[in-house]
Amino acid sequence: MSKIIVLIGAPGAGKGTQARLLQERLGVPQISTGDMFREMKDADTPLAKEVREILASGKLVPDEVTFEMVKERTARDDCKGTYILDGFPRTPVQAEMLEQLSEEQGKPISAILVDVSFDDLEKRLTGRRSCPVCGEIYNIHFKAPKQEGRCDLHPEAELLHRADDTSEKVTVRLETYEENTKPLLEYYEKSGRLQKVDGKRLPEEIYKELESLLAVNNVAA
Ligand code: AMP
Repeated sequence: MSKIIVLIGAPGAGKGTQARLLQERLGVPQISTGDMFREMKDADTPLAKEVREILASGKLVPDEVTFEMVKERTARDDCKGTYILDGFPRTPVQAEMLEQLSEEQGKPISAILVDVSFDDLEKRLTGRRSCPVCGEIYNIHFKAPKQEGRCDLHPEAELLHRADDTSEKVTVRLETYEENTKPLLEYYEKSGRLQKVDGKRLPEEIYKELESLLAVNNVAA
């Protein structure tokens, strides 16, 4: 049976990577509202201007605007079967709107949380460093370079630490996620529609578990 899969995960949990793998390997369309807004903001329309300003502020686009976009996108042919929502719903109002869409489309909702503890997320994000030459990603906690602060292949280059991966910014990003998403997790859990995968493992291992969850749901069968 076709479903609407809501993929939930904190910054650093690897949700985006998994959504892309599912799309590539199983052909399940991945609808990312964040990606859609980023694409939309470059157009020359009044709505694009509004979206541009909201995105720059880090706030959320109004629920109605977001829902209309999701509704339109999921009405296309490629979403006739199961599809994955990434970044939507993000508020309880949006969750209600999705119930309405689920009814209209005749597809039940199944939410999947890529679960990583806050402690680990903090280490993943604050410990992340990248080489400015080859883009190789290191982590001072889990995958340290041979020489501190230097790429193994390009020791002449000092490793970069992203501005939003500093301890202070990471705390804010994780708190924002917690505040917005916790009610959604409770909402899906209470109605028996939440499944969890352990996001602490390697991407390929997480993917295997997701794939088997979807097979149980008759999506990947
Ligand atoms: P993301 O890439 O998912 O972090 O989204 C980037 C930005 O797009 C967010 O900071 C919001 O401004 C906007 N956005 C994405 N999804 C939603 C949503 N479901 N509701 C409202 N705004 C959203």
